[in-house]
Amino acid sequence: MLKDNLENIMQKISQANTQHKTIHLVAVSKSVQSEAIEELCQAGQVDFGENRVQALKQKHDELKYLNLNWHFIGRLQNNKINQLIDLNPVLWHSCDSLERAIEFDKRLEKKSKTQDTLLQINSANEDAKQGVSLNSAIDIYQQINETCKNIKLKGVMSIGAFSDDEKQIQKSFEATYKIFESLKDAKFCSMGMSSDFELAIKCGANMLRVGSILFSH
Ligand SMILES: *Cc1c(COP(=O)(O)O)cnc(C)c1O
Repeated sequence: MLKDNLENIMQKISQANTQHKTIHLVAVSKSVQSEAIEELCQAGQVDFGENRVQALKQKHDELKYLNLNWHFIGRLQNNKINQLIDLNPVLWHSCDSLERAIEFDKRLEKKSKTQDTLLQINSANEDAKQGVSLNSAIDIYQQINETCKNIKLKGVMSIGAFSDDEKQIQKSFEATYKIFESLKDAKFCSMGMSSDFELAIKCGANMLRVGSILFSH
């Protein structure tokens, strides 16, 4: 039962959360169909994340009656921006450059909308990952704030270092958290997935994106 998975993870979160912060859990539903999302919603989960606009649209439309909060966490092509905006995501986690923010901002302007957004940081400098570098993150965050009035930056997102070495993962989380801490008015530090969410909490994450362990049977 997915309800048991959710309870299990909530318990682990609360054990790792020794500082008793408010921690938001985004259920990453990219590998499941709408039925599983509905089941988890019935267990009390309302925040769900998808990494492809097409899949998000399908599930959003199928599950409209549930009034879920949808998060977009994936790579975004410019030709999908309008479609994403029309789906009213509560949070876009994966803004990966000033240029992308400017493109997004233009489309928002035309639709008279705003978008709560996180700046994605490539915290281990990996070629395969999108996001801004650790060195440029604070500058780019400020530039987006100054240039893109419809983009409402709320913090940062990062994927932990791709490594078996927990120390490496921890280093990437700590570096992301340090940037988060230095930003004025940043609300969300989105990091931690199925394999490393407890470590992420210890490093300061207050928003987790958990998929596979939540939806496994
Ligand atoms: C898939 C994905 C997750 C969830 O990963 P799991 O290992 O299934 O928990 C989190 N964040 C992003 C950006 C993802 O693409």
